[in-house]
Amino acid sequence: MSGNRTFTMIKPDAYAAGNSGAILKMIEEAGFKLVAMKLTQLSADTAGKFYEVHKERPFYGDLVKYMSSGPIIAAILEKDNAVVDFRKLIGATNPADAEEGTIRKIFAKSIEANAVHGSDSDENAAIEGSFYFSETERV
Ligand code: ATP
Ligand code: MG
Repeated sequence: MSGNRTFTMIKPDAYAAGNSGAILKMIEEAGFKLVAMKLTQLSADTAGKFYEVHKERPFYGDLVKYMSSGPIIAAILEKDNAVVDFRKLIGATNPADAEEGTIRKIFAKSIEANAVHGSDSDENAAIEGSFYFSETERV
């Protein structure tokens, strides 16, 4: 059975463009409940750790630089089938391939500056949520 929590970040491009409120509105209207939320800025070191799985990819250095370039909003979200449904709501990694009406189609600037993060598995949702939030920071 699939889990009911996922983890998201509103990335620096979307925060800087003033789209955080509009994105959170779409997330809540799609039936996700906020169970933890934090406005923060990652150091290059912390961004590097978060994206460690992509260390060997050619875009890793740029990704770390971009993700530490400005404030982000991190959040844990709750809904039935959270991971899969949230990936549907945000759309494909590259906004050029994302379906109409998805968050990335509407707000992403490029394949790198793609507005939001969404966990890709229940296991990673738990790992990523714990990366940012302690037990006392969740409802
Ligand atoms: P995320 O993990 O942020 O939700 P994703 O799962 O859709 O995105 P991943 O393959 O995990 O995509 O890539 C992580 C992030 O790395 C992407 O969201 C994007 O910001 C960046 N990225 C991915 N592919 C490229 C690429 N070809 N060129 C530049 N940046 C990329
Ligand atoms: Mg991913």
